[in-house]
Amino acid sequence: MNAPLPLSRTSGPDCGPVLKEKGQREVFCGLTGIIWLHRKMQDAFFLVVGSRTCAHLLQSAAGVMIFAEPRFGTAIMEERDLAGLADANDELDRIVEQLLARRPEIKTLFLVGSCPSEVIKLDLAKAAQRLGAKHAPDVRILNYSGSGIETTFTEGEDACLASLVPEMHELPADAAPNLVIVGSLPDIVEDQFRRLFGKLGITNVGSLPERAVADLPGIGPNTRYLLAQPFLGDTAQYLNERGARRIDALFPFGVEGTSDWIGAAAEAFGIDTARVAELLAPYQERARTAIAHQRERLEGRSIFFMPDSQLEVPLARFLANELGMVLTEVGTPYLHQGHMARELAAMPAGVQLSEGQDVDRQLDRVRGIRPDLTVCGLGLANPLESEGLSTKWAIELVFSPIHGFDQAGDLAELFARPLRRRDVLRV
Ligand code: SF4
Repeated sequence: MNAPLPLSRTSGPDCGPVLKEKGQREVFCGLTGIIWLHRKMQDAFFLVVGSRTCAHLLQSAAGVMIFAEPRFGTAIMEERDLAGLADANDELDRIVEQLLARRPEIKTLFLVGSCPSEVIKLDLAKAAQRLGAKHAPDVRILNYSGSGIETTFTEGEDACLASLVPEMHELPADAAPNLVIVGSLPDIVEDQFRRLFGKLGITNVGSLPERAVADLPGIGPNTRYLLAQPFLGDTAQYLNERGARRIDALFPFGVEGTSDWIGAAAEAFGIDTARVAELLAPYQERARTAIAHQRERLEGRSIFFMPDSQLEVPLARFLANELGMVLTEVGTPYLHQGHMARELAAMPAGVQLSEGQDVDRQLDRVRGIRPDLTVCGLGLANPLESEGLSTKWAIELVFSPIHGFDQAGDLAELFARPLRRRDVLRV
C-alpha cells in the first residue's frame, strides 16, 4: 500500500520563469461554456445575441446532444442590425417576448453577448435591466459576454457565474458558516462532494451555480468558498467583494488534489485532521488503485500542453505527480498567480510554463520536442496527428466528469487512450 498523500503542501520547488506569449490564438470563444452550463442550470435559458456564425458554433458543438427543446438559442442579428438600420433593441425585446411566452418554464434568462453585439455596442446590461423590470418577478434576466474578442472558452463560464454573484442573498455577520463550491460540476460529481462534506460534518454546503438559480446559496462574511475550476478569476473577485473568503487549495484532480481540496475545507471548518485522514483513506485507496491501471502506459511518457482551458496547470501536476509523466511544456491562456500558487509549488522542479499564445511559435516547439502526447484544441489536433503526433482534445477534459476521487481513474484513462490507440496502430 502506498503511503497516504499529505493533505496540504505549503512549499515546493521553483517552476522557473514563465514564458509570456502574445500572438495568434487558436481557441474557442466563451459561448462554448453554454454547452455545459445549460445542462447544469435546469431553469435557465441562454439567448446568444449574435450572428449565424455564433448559432453555428453552438449547434455544431451541441448538435448531437439535442433531443428535446434546447435551453439555448441565438437571436440572430441581421446585416441591417449590424449596419445600424434597425433598432436591435426593439428586435431583441420582440424575440424575448416570444421566447418567454412560448417557454413559461424559463425562470432565468441570460442574454449572452457575442462579437457582433459587441461591435455594434449593443448594451446588453441595459437590455437585461429593461426586460428584467418588465418580466419580474417571474423571470430574472441577466447578461454576460461570451464574445471571442473578450473571452476564451472557459472564460464564458467565469463571466456567467460572475453575473450570478449579485443574485446570491446577503447573509448577516452572525449567520452560521457556510461553504460554497464554485464551478459548474456534473451533478453526480457535485453530489459525491456534498456527501463527503456531510460525512465530515460540513452540512451547510451550496454551489455556484445551483441546478435552479433560485436555490443559490447566501453569502456573507462567514462564507468560505472552494474553487472547483481553475478559470474563475472574476467570479472569485466578485465573491471576495461580497465578503466571502477563498479556501486556498489544490484543485480536486487526482488523489493529491482532491485530498488537499477537501482537507483544506475541513481545516477551515475546524474539523479534526485525524478524522479527515480516516474518512478519506478508503476513497484515496480506491482512486490510487484505479490510477495504477493507467500508470504503466503513462509513466515516463512526455506531454505538452497547448494553452486552451486554464485546466492545464492542475492537470499537469496530476499527471506528473501521480502518473509519472514528463512535462515538456505547460501552456495556459492565463496564469492566475494567486489561485495557482499552491499548484505551482506542487509541480516538479524546472517545468517550462508558458502563458498566452503565439500558436506558430508554440507549434514549432511541439515539432522540435515531439512529445508522446500533445493536449490542444480541435483545430490543431488533426495537423499534428497527420505528422505522427498523438493528441488529446482539451475540450474533452472540460466536458468529462474528471473531478474527485471516483473520477481519478477515468481522468488518467483520458490521457492513456490516445497513447494506446497509437501503440495499437504501430503494432
Ligand atoms: Fe465567432 Fe465571436 Fe460568435 Fe464566438 S462570439 S462564435 S468568436 S462571432
